[in-house]
Amino acid sequence: MIKAIKGTKDIFQPEIFNWNVLENLILETFLNYNYSEIRTPIFEETALFARSIGEATDIVGKEMYTFTDKGGTSLTLKPEMTASVMRAVLEHSLHKKQPLNKFFYISPMFRQERPQAGRLRQFHQFGAEAIGSNDPYLDAEMIMLPYIILASLGLTNFKIKINTLGSPKEREQYKLVLRNYLQPKLNDLSEESRKRFETNILRIFDSKDARDIEIMKDAPKIEDYISDADREHFEKVLAVLAVSQLDFEIDHTLVRGLDYYTHTTFEIVSDSVGAQSALCGGGRYNLLSSQLGGPEIPAVGFAAGMERILLAVKNENITLADKNFIDTYVVVTDKEMKNSAYSFTTYLRMEGIRTDMDFLGRSVKAQMREANRLNARYVLFIGEELSENKVILKNMETGEQTEFDLQEELEELIDEIILGDLSDEDIEDEDFPFDDPSLN
Ligand code: AMP
Repeated sequence: MIKAIKGTKDIFQPEIFNWNVLENLILETFLNYNYSEIRTPIFEETALFARSIGEATDIVGKEMYTFTDKGGTSLTLKPEMTASVMRAVLEHSLHKKQPLNKFFYISPMFRQERPQAGRLRQFHQFGAEAIGSNDPYLDAEMIMLPYIILASLGLTNFKIKINTLGSPKEREQYKLVLRNYLQPKLNDLSEESRKRFETNILRIFDSKDARDIEIMKDAPKIEDYISDADREHFEKVLAVLAVSQLDFEIDHTLVRGLDYYTHTTFEIVSDSVGAQSALCGGGRYNLLSSQLGGPEIPAVGFAAGMERILLAVKNENITLADKNFIDTYVVVTDKEMKNSAYSFTTYLRMEGIRTDMDFLGRSVKAQMREANRLNARYVLFIGEELSENKVILKNMETGEQTEFDLQEELEELIDEIILGDLSDEDIEDEDFPFDDPSLN
């Protein structure tokens, strides 16, 4: 039997219901904040990622799914979205049509990493990019957006870490300072970090090696080398977050490995998902546009891993989606009536009532079993009484059965299914906010 590729997953019920809830929440949240969706192709020219993310990063160096197509072009399945979004903005001159473009996306990504819990080879991210403004309020917004989504899901066990990398010029100076600090200690560093010393020195801060961590604890801090303007920018971001009552932690070691980052960087990490603890990462990337041959365009964004977020949801015992249920299961008690049953099923569906019926020629008993398996709230019996225009509706919770005359009581039947057991009185007793005098 052919199986799915290692590190990829089939997602179906009941798990998919959580995905549906998460995706609806993402859509609703971003539309609220006036971000519009962007969809870009699943593959791009390899040069796009190599040039933007950086040759010396793990993503470009080790993890990309790169192949040559029949025309001899080197293509890569997208490992992240930011480069693609910037490419699209520049290609369609969107920055000339309006100065600030705010996009969100939901998309699969591809990285050839060693699969483990929370780490896949095809995984899904949602994220946002605000392209065209250097406003620190937007840096803060990029932290607030994933925060709101995580909090709306009911997650609590996560932390926001934030840092600044300053501007490229000062960062280059800082790298020299870091070089001078590490040079005499080179032999004590792990092999990986010794490599990074040459290729991507800031990434030594990401090392999980205990000796590396010890050495980096006393390393010079980037914040001591950034300009006053950059410090002010960072302080404004922190102030906006504080006003929004978001808890965060400044982490000077948070460098994020990609070449295009400048200024603010951040990550949201969770204690609920094991070793791969980052739920979300992002930052400002004022360099990316010019790296891709465009003008200088300030931009900021984030990406969040959907598998990891849903793993956190599971591990924090949060129920997102109701168990699968349908409103009505139509049970055919007289096979001659199948046509009518199907018409009725269609009618109920068009009324917005989730409805299904049997397509396997099952006995009435087996149809009732299926209704139970689907957690049907109601069963509608279609049988010989239909010749007198009558149907029987069974409330599966109370067991109560009611006969309805289709000519005279069709509306009542629909109301009963939609409103369930709510009598008129119950409806009046419900808390309707508009009846609250304090709202006037
Ligand atoms: P990054 O672009 O590496 O900062 O990734 C952003 C987010 O995507 C991370 O915080 C993770 O939640 C998620 N992510 C990254 N790589 C993987 C992977 N291989 N499998 C699952 N999720 C991932």
